[in-house]
Amino acid sequence: MRYYLGLGSNLVDPRNNLARARRRLAANGIKILKTSSLYRTEPVGLSGQPWFLNQAVLVETSLSPWQLLRLAQRVESEMGRIPGPRNAPRVIDIDILLAGDTIVDTPSLTVPHARLAERNFVLVPLAEIAPRAVHPLLKKTIQTLRGASSDRALVEKAPSALRPDSATAKTRPRSG
Ligand code: ADP
Ligand code: MG
Repeated sequence: MRYYLGLGSNLVDPRNNLARARRRLAANGIKILKTSSLYRTEPVGLSGQPWFLNQAVLVETSLSPWQLLRLAQRVESEMGRIPGPRNAPRVIDIDILLAGDTIVDTPSLTVPHARLAERNFVLVPLAEIAPRAVHPLLKKTIQTLRGASSDRALVEKAPSALRPDSATAKTRPRSG
């Protein structure tokens, strides 16, 4: 079964945390088929915390949605996530966004993710890798939902890790 997952981190070393989370999922047999770019996103709900890095990934696994949730939560806790309120700063957050046409509505798991259509930090990375995926309850594509989002929180592509550091270049003393 294929799932879209949303990864997020805003503590310590977010870029590295996302990479570690992907590696740990892969080490547990989750096949990563597609990854979006990384996006810097403005925190929603709780201000005064660092911006997040968010990413959407397409994975394939034989795990059920509940088994995948359990694995995601194990990876979160192994990576040192301390349980806290929703939208609080975190080392790693792994959410199940979509599971094809599957709909789950239980106290511990809601798929599609309950706030998917209201969050730019989810919609923008997801639209990059799954513009034509259809939300099975709203019956609209991710691209359409993204265009219709009234969320005003900022989302911008994160600069690539290997970009030469222009600040360093500017402060380098001139020769001669
Ligand atoms: P959030 O990601 O909304 O900031 P948490 O990561 O703290 O919040 O998750 C809170 C609870 O959300 C988890 O204990 C989990 O049982 C529940 N949950 C419900 N649906 C999902 C989903 N699709 N993906 C991940 N967690 C979910
Ligand atoms: Mg979560």
